[in-house]
Amino acid sequence: MSAYIPVELQRQVRARFFNACAYCRTAEILTGMTFEFEHIKPRALGGETLFENLCFACPNCKTIFVNILSK
Ligand SMILES: [Zn+2]
Repeated sequence: MSAYIPVELQRQVRARFFNACAYCRTAEILTGMTFEFEHIKPRALGGETLFENLCFACPNCKTIFVNILSK
């Protein structure tokens, strides 16, 4: 489930991670895929949609991250 993230906040998070995946460091522009924003502390656990709680992940790492959390 994805939350609405304001465009300006998205821009700040992208800049923080240099438009690359926070985990594998692959640059979004090189993959042709759209990377996703995710909450470091999940919203289900009270994580807020703030700059400090957001990271940027490619679809592969996003999937791994979700699998880890769901175990
Ligand atoms: Zn990745």
